[in-house]
Amino acid sequence: MTIFDELRRYDGFDFPGFLAGVTDAHVARALQKERLTPQDYLALLSPAAARHLEPMAQKARDLTIRHFGRAMVLFTPLYLANHCTNQCVYCGFNTKNRIERRKLTLEEVEAEALAIAATGLKHILILTGEDRKQTPPAYMADCIRVLKRYFTSIAIEVYPLTQEEYALLIEAGADGMTMFQEVYDETVYAELHPKGPKRDYRFRLEAPDRAGRAGMRQLNIGALLGLNSWRTEAFFTGLHADWLQRAYPDAEVAVSPPRMRPHAGGFPPREIVSDAELVQYILAFRLFMPRGGVTLSTRERPGLRDNLLGLGVTRMSAGVCTQVGGRASGQHATGQFEISDPRSVDEMAQALYQRGYQPVYKDWQYL
Ligand code: SF4
Repeated sequence: MTIFDELRRYDGFDFPGFLAGVTDAHVARALQKERLTPQDYLALLSPAAARHLEPMAQKARDLTIRHFGRAMVLFTPLYLANHCTNQCVYCGFNTKNRIERRKLTLEEVEAEALAIAATGLKHILILTGEDRKQTPPAYMADCIRVLKRYFTSIAIEVYPLTQEEYALLIEAGADGMTMFQEVYDETVYAELHPKGPKRDYRFRLEAPDRAGRAGMRQLNIGALLGLNSWRTEAFFTGLHADWLQRAYPDAEVAVSPPRMRPHAGGFPPREIVSDAELVQYILAFRLFMPRGGVTLSTRERPGLRDNLLGLGVTRMSAGVCTQVGGRASGQHATGQFEISDPRSVDEMAQALYQRGYQPVYKDWQYL
C-alpha cells in the first residue's frame, strides 16, 4: 500500500459538505485533543475554524517551541538548470515559454557555491526543471559532489526519480528531497499538466516514498496553493506528510505551503489564498503534526514571514535567487517566479535575532 491507495479512500468524500458542516463545538473539541484525527485536521481547515485562529495560534506556538525551540534553520536554493520538457500552465520554465535555457557547468556550480558559502549558509537546495536528457541524475550527482565541499546538507528539488536514482544521489551526498505534488486532486492535476512526463500523477505522488525507501533523511512535500481549493489540498498534504512519517520514522518530514507567484507564463491562480488562510493552514498542520517541519519560502513578503515565526515554521530560505547562475555570473535570466522577500542571509539573521530567534546555519553534518 502506498499514499496513492491511502488517498483513494477519500474518493467520493463530500468535502464541501463536511467543511460547511463544521461547527464551533467541533473546532473547540479538536483544540482540546492531544492527537488529532484526519477529520479533526479537516475541521481546523474549515471556514468555521477561521473564527478560532487565536486559540489555534496559542497552541501551535506552544507545540512549536516545545519541539523545535526558538531556532530557525536557514537554507538557500541553487538553480542548476531551467531546461524542462513539461508544460505546467503555472510555471515560467514551461517548455513553451521562450526564455533562455541553460544549465550550469561544474565550474559554474563551484562559482555559485563559493558565492553562497560566503554568506555562511551550510544548507542548500538544488533545483532543476524536468529534462532527463539535459540534466540526468548522473549530472546531478556530479554537481552534488562539487557542492559537498562547501555545504553540510544538500537537498534536491528535481523531477521524480526511481529508488535507484535516489540512492545514487544519496551516495553522492544528498540528504533531503522536496517534491511538490502541486495539486492532489487528480482531475485538476491532469488539466494543469497537459503535456510531458509530469502528467504521470502517480509516479510523482509516490516519489517521496521511493526516496524514503532509498534512505533519504529529509522528505519535504507540498501543494502549490492557488491551483485548487486550498482547504482540500492542505488536507491531502497533511495526510501525505503523516503517512510518510509513519512509513519512515527515521526521516524528518516537512511540508511547504507555497502560494502562487507571478511568473513568465502569466497563468492566474484559480483561487486567491489570503494571508489569514495561509496562517490557518500552518496552524492546523502544526496541531495535526506537532513534530512536522514547515518550510516557508521567499514567495512570502518579509512582514508576513516575520509574523509567522513561532507559529509553526521551522525552516526558511534566505538570500534567494531563482535564476540559473544568477549569483556568480551577475546575468539576469528569467527566474522561475518572482520572490517577495529579497533579504540577504545577514538581514534575515538580524530579523530573527530581533524577534528572539536563533538563525541556524547548520544542523547536520554528512560523515
Ligand atoms: S513546474 Fe517544474 S516541471 Fe513544470 S514547467 Fe516548471 S520547471 Fe517544468
